[in-house]
Amino acid sequence: MDERNWAGNYRYAATAIHEPASVDELRRVVEGATRLHALGSRHSFNAVADTEGELVHLGRLGPDIRIAPDGASVSVNSATHYRELARVLQAAGLALHNLGSLPHISIGGACSTGTHGSGDRNGNLSSAVIGLEIVLADGSLIAADRTDARFDGMVVALGALGVVTRLTLETRPSYSVRQDLYLGLPWDSLFAHFDDIMSSGYSVNVLGRWQGDLLTKVWVKTRVDDEAPVIRSDLFGAVLETSGEYVSPSGLTNETVNGVPGPWNERLAHFRGELPPGYGEEVQTEYMVDRRHAVAAIAAVRELGHSIDPILLSSEIRSMSADQLWLSPAYDRQTVAIHFTFRRETAAIAGVLPAIEEALAPFEPRPHWGKLYALDAAAIEQRYPRMADFRALARSLDPEAKFHSDFLENQVYAR
Ligand SMILES: Cc1cc2nc3c(=O)[nH]c(=O)nc-3n(C[C@H](O)[C@H](O)[C@H](O)COP(=O)(O)OP(=O)(O)OC[C@H]3O[C@@H](n4cnc5c(N)ncnc54)[C@H](O)[C@@H]3O)c2cc1C
Repeated sequence: MDERNWAGNYRYAATAIHEPASVDELRRVVEGATRLHALGSRHSFNAVADTEGELVHLGRLGPDIRIAPDGASVSVNSATHYRELARVLQAAGLALHNLGSLPHISIGGACSTGTHGSGDRNGNLSSAVIGLEIVLADGSLIAADRTDARFDGMVVALGALGVVTRLTLETRPSYSVRQDLYLGLPWDSLFAHFDDIMSSGYSVNVLGRWQGDLLTKVWVKTRVDDEAPVIRSDLFGAVLETSGEYVSPSGLTNETVNGVPGPWNERLAHFRGELPPGYGEEVQTEYMVDRRHAVAAIAAVRELGHSIDPILLSSEIRSMSADQLWLSPAYDRQTVAIHFTFRRETAAIAGVLPAIEEALAPFEPRPHWGKLYALDAAAIEQRYPRMADFRALARSLDPEAKFHSDFLENQVYAR
């Protein structure tokens, strides 16, 4: 097998990939394997989805989207991409609470790593999961929901517990979002008015580079139904883009619909679902810090701007609310995510990550599980209070370590 991830920076070590056409076939594959791991849509940038054994991908099961009669939830096969689910929900007058930047990512893969969008009052995408079905190491299929004491350990699980076949997500009535673009935010304003800026909309993204006096832009996404949109001409020094002519450099993002309200599924993600998801020439890193330390943490990273910017395409700052999922990077803390999209220069990135992690160390950053980082198991362990519970859960569901992998041995099981 010679297969790579979406970004092309990682070649899977697995010896084969199974694509079962039914849950029964999946159960037989799992039962017969000695080492196995689930693979989603391959959008992670590291070895989190890999195994030295065999991979299994559930794309052939199809989406099989089932909306609950009361419209309060939807159940879907895990390999379904967010864009497909979002289209069906919107057609039914329903919505999810949020989306990540790329709607082409599988729901199972995104929820397994705690993938997030932005918004002070929005939990990450896995916080919407209220039930799941999973094939365990012995080939049995079990269902779990929030009434199960283990459930908070089962949602963000990095493929360590089994192969998730279906997820049930909370839904809400559809809503419209207006996205406004502000250009040129002074760094001084970000530091002085961080909370005001991050809470200026339902979902706010601050983008830019680390050197210079100005950040490139701020996206403020406002719900037009329940919040009377207050559209300022100036956001703490960043200027509202009103010409209607602004086109994102790639043409792939939702900036082309600036200022025009539209359905949630066409505004919350950065990338447009109907277009290809960027070019795959980038790799990403992201650290989640406690909201209380956000300004100090961002300031510490900025000190390294001279070594980060030469290999950076863009950075981004987002927020999310706390959740109770044991391995979620937002576990038990209001969170701010500090993100880096790097050019695919692996050696240079490996050179700069330890410095970023050292600068962030006082703020106990949790790395995004699916992105590049250099932290070791000791640091990870210290930052996840429920890690021991997660290991015990993994031992009880997978006593023969069928779903173990080098990544999990190094990051989760090593102490
Ligand atoms: C262009 C781009 C934009 C991105 N934007 C964001 C963003 O806005 N926010 C953010 O937080 N992240 C973002 N990411 C990261 C991405 O969301 C995560 O890496 C996510 O986990 C990838 O999901 P995937 O379906 O590709 O899964 P994979 O990368 O294939 O796998 C990820 C993990 O999920 C597990 N998994 C997958 N399917 C199953 C299953 N059926 N059962 C059990 N475990 C399973 C795998 O074993 C692995 O541990 C982005 C990545 C890219 C490439």
